[in-house]
Amino acid sequence: MLSPGIVTVSYIAATILFILALGGLSHQETARRGNWYGITGMAIALLATVFGKVTDNYALLVGALVIGGSIGLFLARRVQMTQMPELVAILHSLVGLAAVAVGFATFMDHTIEYFGVEKTIHDIEIYVGILIGAVTFSGSVIAFGKLSGRIGGKPLLLPARHWLNLGLLLAAIWFGREFVLQSADGTGMTPLIVMTIIALLFGIHMVMAIGGADMPVVVSMLNSYSGWAASATGFMLSNDLLIVTGALVGSSGAILSYIMCRAMNRKFLNVIAGGFGTGGGTGAAASDGEQGEIVAIEAAETAALLANAKEVMIVPGYGMAVAQAQHTVYEITKALRAKNVNVRFGIHPVAGRMPGHMNVLLAEAKVPYDIVFEMDEVNEDFPDIDISVVIGANDIVNPSAQEVPDSPIAGMPVLEVWKGNTTIVLKRSMATGYAGVQNPLFFKENTRMLFGDAKDSLDAVLKAL
Ligand code: NDP
Repeated sequence: MLSPGIVTVSYIAATILFILALGGLSHQETARRGNWYGITGMAIALLATVFGKVTDNYALLVGALVIGGSIGLFLARRVQMTQMPELVAILHSLVGLAAVAVGFATFMDHTIEYFGVEKTIHDIEIYVGILIGAVTFSGSVIAFGKLSGRIGGKPLLLPARHWLNLGLLLAAIWFGREFVLQSADGTGMTPLIVMTIIALLFGIHMVMAIGGADMPVVVSMLNSYSGWAASATGFMLSNDLLIVTGALVGSSGAILSYIMCRAMNRKFLNVIAGGFGTGGGTGAAASDGEQGEIVAIEAAETAALLANAKEVMIVPGYGMAVAQAQHTVYEITKALRAKNVNVRFGIHPVAGRMPGHMNVLLAEAKVPYDIVFEMDEVNEDFPDIDISVVIGANDIVNPSAQEVPDSPIAGMPVLEVWKGNTTIVLKRSMATGYAGVQNPLFFKENTRMLFGDAKDSLDAVLKAL
């Protein structure tokens, strides 16, 4: 049994390590170290809680840890890199569910009795904790469905949906008042259950109304919510570390949502209110009309073009993750650099299916960081690029974001590959990307389509090189 002093010191150490972890994770070079800070902080936090806070029922605790840990280990080992966003979404839902469960358990637990103002504060903590938890839970389940393709990306636009949201919010506030009043008389379960149902419906409605193209913001927003849910759980359990850790996750998720919104040129409130990113607005239909001709290219010709180029820009997207082509991409990069070709990578902030998706894949393949650039750093250089190689990317290189005002992705900054000399696009078919919008890039005069699985195509290019 650890003394309360040691527990407090351990919690402070864990908090510092979590802050260092967040700092480390903000740069690729320090991300690995950041992860270790986080793992160490979490280990300290767990040990201090298990040996300092928990006083009995160890069998139950170990049983739950073994069952939960085994399921987590099994799923994490099985998950494909392309399924990571879904995994993250479903993990967020579990944080929300935990907050709801802890909220009800705390309400039903009468081991410590609160009185007066203290009771009111405790009741509000429970109410808000369950509210945030339930929204996070149902919203994350819907996000999981959308990211895994089980639910379509098209936004559900109910008539008067803003009024519906406002109505649900007002109802939640009214039931909150009821709950606090009834709880003072020893009841209150009914308003608590009604509010939980309202919050669940709100979470479903909120994420259903958000269109495919805006999902990156939803992923980071739910990340933020899960942090606030954990923080609320901390208040209910009077656990300072959980409050602080939850707040760290909540605020960093909020900052990430802001960055994502800026990257997509969206206003946060507009995204949350829903309706953007429809899978086929009139703009998409308009640009579907005169698309022109497609010119296909073979691997050998691609290799010849690359070998004779001076400036090559590689633009990876979700398809590179699907094909797991990152290692071949790096082999090709090395071969070209050996021929004195300047190869750079241009990364769009929402490429792939989760923030930083492409950076993780390229780092895994050991691509040096100094040739990997963000969109803003390279977008002006395209007129000087001889060959742009678009590997399994679609929405992030779609010119209709700039040219078609009513396109579902209108206004989203994109990598302007078409301004270069020649663009080679690797994909399997003419299928659209995540936002469901046809891409006029494929029909441009200076575009060549290299059809097939990106890994197979690149293997053939490497062989020819
Ligand atoms: P897209 O989803 O727009 O396009 C991916 C393309 O890859 C598809 O057109 C597909 O075409 C091709 N592809 C799939 N598998 C393969 C394969 N094995 N080999 C070759 N090509 C393949 O991806 P982008 O990265 O361009 O854009 C990301 C999109 O995802 C954006 O709309 C973004 O908003 C959204 N999003 C991003 C999130 C994030 O946090 N980054 C989260 C959620 C959504 P084909 O089938 O013809 O091969």
